[in-house]
Amino acid sequence: TEQTLVLIKPDGVQRGVIGEVISRIERKGLTLAALELRTVPTEIAAEHYAEHAERPFFGSLLEFITSGPVVAAVVEGPRAIAAFRQLAGGTDPVEKATPGTIRGDFGLETQFNLVHGSDSPESAAREIGLWFPALRS
Ligand code: ATP
Repeated sequence: TEQTLVLIKPDGVQRGVIGEVISRIERKGLTLAALELRTVPTEIAAEHYAEHAERPFFGSLLEFITSGPVVAAVVEGPRAIAAFRQLAGGTDPVEKATPGTIRGDFGLETQFNLVHGSDSPESAAREIGLWFPALRS
């Protein structure tokens, strides 16, 4: 079994799709190992998105992620990382995500793409350690 770090970003919380996203995770057969609503300090957001530090959208991404509460979750199951990324759909909700995915069904703009899921076992371990230090492996 595998674990992945999932975030429902402030736009998802604001749009009222927390239940919808969690429902899709559960219907897929994945389970929740941790789940919490919280407002992210800028330092944690910057660490989470450290790989994008040099990108032009970094500042606005941090502003967005810290703009309101997010749901942080550790999601577990066989191939959980790939399975959640399948549920999420591609980064751009219109050009990449297809209907039937979370982003494809609810998103319009790349920045406001509702959810985050770790993209590799290394990212998952790093991100779970960052968001849920008590679960650090
Ligand atoms: P994926 O790994 O599938 O691309 P992701 O969510 O990890 O999904 P990243 O490319 O890592 O996407 O980018 C992180 C986040 O930064 C995106 O989810 C999105 O919110 C934001 N973002 C990415 N590209 C842009 C962009 N060109 N303009 C504005 N925001 C962006």
